[in-house]
Amino acid sequence: MTATKYVYDFEEGNKDMKYLLGGKGANLAEMTNMGLPVPHGFTVTCEACNAFRAAGGQFPDGMLDEVGVHLVALEQKMGRGLGDPADPLLVSVRSGAPFSMPGMMDTVLNVGLNDASVEGLAKQTGSQRFAWDSYRRLLQMFGKTVMGVDGDRFEEAIDEAKHAKGVKNDLDLDEGDLHALVARFKQIIASETGRDFPQEPKEQLRLGIQAVFGSWDNKRAIDYRRKNKIADDLGTAVNVQSMVFGNKGDDSGTGVAFTRNPADGERAPYGDYLPNAQGEDVVAGIRNTMKLEEMADVQPQAWEELKGHLQALERHYRDMCDVEFTVEQGKLWMLQTRVGKRTAFAEWIMAYDMLDESLIDVDTALLRLDADRLEELFKKVVAVGTRLEAIASGLNASPGAAVGRAVFTADDAQAWAERGEDVILVRRETTPDDYHGMIRSQGILTSAGGTNSHAAVVARGEGIPAVCGADAIHVDRAERRFTVGSLTVAEGEWITIDGFTGKVYAGQLELADSPIERARSGDPEARREKIWQAYERFMARADQVRRLRVRANADTPQQSANAIERGAEGIGLCRTEHMFLGEERVAAVRTMIFASTAEEEHAAYDVLAPLQREDFVGIFREMDGKPVTVRLLDPPLHEFLPNQVDLAVAVALARQADAKEVEVSGERLPLAEAEELLDRVNDLHEANPMLGLRGLRLGIVKPGLYAMQVRAIVGAACQVKSEGGNPVVEIMIPLAATREELAQLREELEPVARQVTADRGVDLEVLWGTMIELPRAALTAGEIAEVAEFFSFGTNDLTQTTFGFSRDDIGKFLGLYEERKLVPVNPFVTIDRPGVGRLMRLACEEGRAAREHLHLGICGEHGGDPDSVRFCHEIGLDYVSCSPFRVPTARLAAGQAALGEASSASK
Ligand code: PEP
Ligand code: MG
Repeated sequence: MTATKYVYDFEEGNKDMKYLLGGKGANLAEMTNMGLPVPHGFTVTCEACNAFRAAGGQFPDGMLDEVGVHLVALEQKMGRGLGDPADPLLVSVRSGAPFSMPGMMDTVLNVGLNDASVEGLAKQTGSQRFAWDSYRRLLQMFGKTVMGVDGDRFEEAIDEAKHAKGVKNDLDLDEGDLHALVARFKQIIASETGRDFPQEPKEQLRLGIQAVFGSWDNKRAIDYRRKNKIADDLGTAVNVQSMVFGNKGDDSGTGVAFTRNPADGERAPYGDYLPNAQGEDVVAGIRNTMKLEEMADVQPQAWEELKGHLQALERHYRDMCDVEFTVEQGKLWMLQTRVGKRTAFAEWIMAYDMLDESLIDVDTALLRLDADRLEELFKKVVAVGTRLEAIASGLNASPGAAVGRAVFTADDAQAWAERGEDVILVRRETTPDDYHGMIRSQGILTSAGGTNSHAAVVARGEGIPAVCGADAIHVDRAERRFTVGSLTVAEGEWITIDGFTGKVYAGQLELADSPIERARSGDPEARREKIWQAYERFMARADQVRRLRVRANADTPQQSANAIERGAEGIGLCRTEHMFLGEERVAAVRTMIFASTAEEEHAAYDVLAPLQREDFVGIFREMDGKPVTVRLLDPPLHEFLPNQVDLAVAVALARQADAKEVEVSGERLPLAEAEELLDRVNDLHEANPMLGLRGLRLGIVKPGLYAMQVRAIVGAACQVKSEGGNPVVEIMIPLAATREELAQLREELEPVARQVTADRGVDLEVLWGTMIELPRAALTAGEIAEVAEFFSFGTNDLTQTTFGFSRDDIGKFLGLYEERKLVPVNPFVTIDRPGVGRLMRLACEEGRAAREHLHLGICGEHGGDPDSVRFCHEIGLDYVSCSPFRVPTARLAAGQAALGEASSASK
C-alpha cells in the first residue's frame, strides 16, 4: 500500500482538485501552471485536516515529514532558509477549504520571524522599521489565532504606543516604537498564556498548520457552514506560501480585484487597492482604500499587467474571477483567485454578457444561475420621487433598499429580529463574529471599509442590502447611536439604506418594485434594461427545456392573476378554507358545524354554496384553459370557531362581572349564547387536531359539506363555460389514508357533479384525485390509484406525519436538530429524500403501475424549493405547485434539473 500523499507543491495541482487542495490551493496551482506570477508554495491537503480531526488533533503519520521535504524544495527555489537569521525566508500559512468561507478560519503571516531573523529581514530589505513591523504583525496574529490571546490586548497596546507618542496613525510609529511593541506583545503572550512565543521557525510553522486545521471547528466557521449548506466533513487545506510584502513603501501595495463588477455585473475590472499595506488591511476595512483603476496613477506598470492577468483568468475559467494581489516594490504577485461571488443581479447580467461574448453557451449560462437567489432580482428599490435628502452616502456594497430600526450590535440585531422587528445593523465595520446578527438584518450599514470589506462580502453573499464606508457617520457603539454632523440617530430609530446607490436616509422611505417588477408590469423604460432582457432570455430557455410543469398555490382571483403573471401554468392547490371565513359566512359556518338536524345543516349550505360558487367563478375566469385543482375542505372545524381558551376566559369574566353580553372575536353575544358556544367548542376540542377530524374525515362525518363544495365548484365551472370560457376542473380530496375512504366519497360526490352538469346542460369533464400526505397513502398508492386520477403530494403533512414532527411546533427544536446534524436538511424546506422522498418515489411507481396515466404533482411548500424541484424532476412528477412568488424560481429550477440530467447523461 502506498502511503497517502498529504502535501502538494503548487506545480502538482490544478483547479479541479478543490476537494483535496481546497479552493485556494487548487487555484494557486492552476495559476502557477498558467504561468502567472504566483509566489512559490505548497498545500497540505483537506484529507490531512480530516485525519487530524479524526485523531483528536494529531497530525497523521508522515505528514510533517512531507511538509519538511516540501519546505526544503521551497527553500531551494527561493534560495533562502525558513527563518535563516542572515537572509530569512518567511511564509504565510493560510486556510483554504473546498468552498470559500471568507474570513471564517485562521491565517498566520510572516512565519519564520524571530528575535534573530528580524535582523536578517532588516538587512535583506534595508529597513529596520519594516522588519520590526513585520515581526509585530506575526506576534499579533500568532498570539491571537494560534495561542488564543484576546486580539484586543494587542490593539490596546498599539493604541497606548500611539497615545504615548501623540500620533494617530500606525504608520507614524517608528522602528524604535515597533521594537518596544514587539517586546510588549511578547509579554502579553507570556502573561496571557503562560508560554513564550516560539522562536523556532519550524515550530511556528507546525503550530500554524495545527491552528488552521483547528479553526475548521471554530464557532463562526460552523455557523457559516450551516447557513451556506457546506458539509462539515470537508475539512480545510493549508497553504504555505513564500511571503511577498505590500507594505514595503509607496511602490508597494495590495488589493483585491474582480474581473467584472460583482455588484452590478458591469464588464470592467473592479476592486480596491491600498498602497503600502498587507492584504488583511483591505478585507478588514481598517483604512479606506482607493478604487482599483486609480492604480493606473500610482502603479502604472503593475496595473497594465494586472489587467492582462484578469483577462487571462476570465478566459481560462470562462467566468468572473476575483483575485488577491500584492505589488512588492513595483512587482505584481498573484496571491489567490477563484470564481468570484456576486449578487444575483450581477450573476444574471454576467451570464447574459458572457453568452453574448461567446465565452459560454446558453445552457452553461442557465446552469450558472442560482435559482435559490432568483427572488433577489425582485428586490425593492427606493421609490422614485422620494424627496428626502440623504444624510450620508457610502459605497453601494450590496443591492436592494432596506428600511429598519437602527441597532448597533449583532446580538441586538438577532434579538430584535427574533421579536419581529425589521433592523438595520449599523457598525463601524463588521467582523466574522457579527455574522449571526448580519443575516437577521434587513440591511447593513458601515462607516468604514470598502466594497470588499467583510460587511460587503457577507451582505452580497446573503442577498442583504448594504452600504459600506459611509465615513460621515460616527458610530458610537457604547451609546448605541450614530451621529452625522449635528444629527443623532439612536437605537430603534428608523433608517433607510439604498444598496444600489450607497445612500443613507433618516426615517422610513417608501420602497418601490425592482426593474424586473416594473418591466413585468409593462414599464417600457424598465423593459430596455439589460436585467430584464437577461431575465426573459434565460427564463425562456428554462421553459423550453423543462419537463416539469409549474403551477401555483392560489385561492383567490387576485392570487391567480399574480401566478399567471409569473408564468404559472395552472393552480395545483386551491385551498377552500378561506372561503369559510369572513363576516357574512361565520354564522352559516357555525350553524353548519353545530347543526343537530339535516334541515339546519342544509340551510347553512344553502347560504354558503352561492358565496363559494362566486369565489370559484372568479378563479376559473382568471385561469381560463389552465387546470385548477380545488381541494375540498381540509382543516379541523374548530379553526372556524373562537379560540377555546379565549372564549372560556371571556365567559368566566362575564359571569363574574354579572355582564349580560360577552365579546367574542369582535362580536357581542348574549351570555347564554356564548356559554352554549363554549360547550360546543369544548365538544369539538381534540388533543391532536392535525391527526383528528380533518381532511376527508370531515367529508365522511358531514356528508353534505363536500357535496355543497362540489356543487359550488362544478356550478361555477358550468357558468364560466356557458360564458364561453374553458374551465379545467380537478377536484382533490385531502388526507386519504385508505382506498375505501376515497372510493366511498367519489361514489357519493360524482353523481352530485353529474347532476349539476346535467341541470345546466353543460358538457364538463372533472378529474378526481387525492393528496398523498400520509405514509399509509404512499405505501398503498397502488390501491389508491385505482380510485384516483391524480395524486398531489402534500409534503407539508407528509413530512409532519413521516417524521412525527408537528409542523406548528417545530420551531422549538428543529434549530437544535439542524445544529447537531440530527436531520440532514430542514425537512419542511427541502424534501428529505431518504424518508419522505422514498415514500414519494414508491407512491409514484406503484401509482403509475396501477394507473398508467396517473397524473402526479406536488403542492407542499417544497414545490418552490430548487433542490426539491430537482427531486420532483428525478422521480418523474408532471408538475410542481408553489406560492405565486416562487413560480419563476420553480421554472428556473425545473429547467436546470432537465439540463443537469441531460449533461450527466452525456458524460
Ligand atoms: C400539504 O400538507 O403539503 C398541503 C399542501 O396541505 P396543507 O399545507 O394545506 O395542509
Ligand atoms: Mg396538508
